[in-house]
Order: sequence, then structure tokens, then C-alpha cells
Amino acid sequence: MRKTIIAGNWKMNKLISEAKVLVQELKELVSGITEIEIVVCPVYTSLYVVSQEIKGSNIKLGAQDCFWEESGAYTGEVSPVMLKDVGVEFVVLGHSERRQYFCETDEWVNKKTKKAIEIGLRPIVCVGEKLEEREAGKTFSIIEKQLEGGLGNLSPEEIKKVVIAYEPVWAIGTGKTATPEQAQEVHKFIRNWLSEKFGDEIAEGITIQYGGSVKPGNAKDLLSQKDIDGALVGGASLKAQDFAQIIKAGL
Ligand code: PEP
Repeated sequence: MRKTIIAGNWKMNKLISEAKVLVQELKELVSGITEIEIVVCPVYTSLYVVSQEIKGSNIKLGAQDCFWEESGAYTGEVSPVMLKDVGVEFVVLGHSERRQYFCETDEWVNKKTKKAIEIGLRPIVCVGEKLEEREAGKTFSIIEKQLEGGLGNLSPEEIKKVVIAYEPVWAIGTGKTATPEQAQEVHKFIRNWLSEKFGDEIAEGITIQYGGSVKPGNAKDLLSQKDIDGALVGGASLKAQDFAQIIKAGL
């Protein structure tokens, strides 16, 4: 049975001291929860301090991106080996903000995904349509293109390590949430794509998170959908109380 994974994407927020306080608060609030994999994804500069704070707890460490080379002349980049070195287990790849502001392509997402897996990280690969694409009836074709481009050439062993996050771009940071039915429809589509590509058994084992203005008030309805196996949470993960409530909604 696939595990529910709830991850907090802190985006470009929190100084080191603030990150430390946030994770300390969260640790208290979610202690003892073993049914759900809990992940926090701070900025690079806070990874080390957060890794120290979560030692021995039920919280795992994630990063928000990585490069596909292990080391070398790539100014400004951080490699998956370096993330592993600091205690990172998960890495968000292909987030819509990276696609939008940093011209991230499906090809790049694919290279990063393959390298992250090779190094032993679990990629959280984000896909999602923009509002105009949804309105033009292109949601499924956009999602399929992102899945094919980002994950289509993975081996069965590689895909088993991947978490997919469906994040409709129009719902990220906007306060608008996909209805549970809208989200379930796309999650089902993603699961069908996985089945066709990798077989039913693998498809049934892959965690597909929903992301886009998940809050304490809507988390339960979203997480109770058949193919929604967790959440990737932005804004609400910056408040320990809110994030803890979202996690508890998944129990
Ligand atoms: C995100 O950053 O992945 C996200 C879903 O953000 P928010 O929850 O703020 O919409």
C-alpha cells in the first residue's frame, strides 16, 4: 500500500534562526505520527540546521531543487550528492515556479530526476496546468506532456522512487484550490498514465500528492480522495500549527 507523504515547501522563506524555530514547533506538534511521511523543504542555507533539529524525529528533510551533475564548474548550483551529504532524502523537481521564472524544461526535470534517483534521493516531481490551459480544455494533454518528458524514460526501478505532485498552477499561492473532484480526476489520469507505462502494480504503489493552496480547512476533503496520497504544501507549511493540522487531516 502506498504511503501518504505530506511535504512542506517553504519556498524562499525563513532565515536560519526562523527555520530552526519553525521545525522545533512542528516536531512537538507531530511527534508520534508514524502513519504519514512528513517532509520539510527549507532553503539551502537552512538545510544543515534543520537536519540537526530533526535527528531522531519523524520529520524528513527535503530540498527544493538540485542540479544533475555531481560537482564541477556550475556556479550557483547544488548537486544531489551535496544534498545527500547534508541529510536530504527528498527533492522537489520541476516546481511550476521554477518552470515559470527559471525556464525549467521537462528535459531538465528528467535529467535532474534520473540523477537524484541514482544518488539515492526521492524526487517529488511536479506537474500542473495553467489556468488558460485548463480553460482551453488542455489539462490532460499538458499533464501527459510533462509526465512523458519528465518521467517517460525511467526504468521500473527508477519510477518506484518517484513521488508525483499534481499542482494546478492556478491554485498555487492564489488561495484557489481545485475541488476534490477536479483534483481526483487528474490524479486518476496520472495513475492511468503510470499503469499504461509501468503496469498496474507499480502505478498502485506510487504516491501522488496534490498541491495548490492546501489549508487546514480543505485538507481532509482532498486527502480523502481515492488517488490523492498526500500533499505538497506551500504557504500553510510556514505556520507549524497549520501544517500540523494538515498532516493530521491525513490520518
Ligand atoms: C507549492 O509551493 O508547491 C504550493 C502548493 O504552494 P501553496 O500551498 O502556497 O499554494
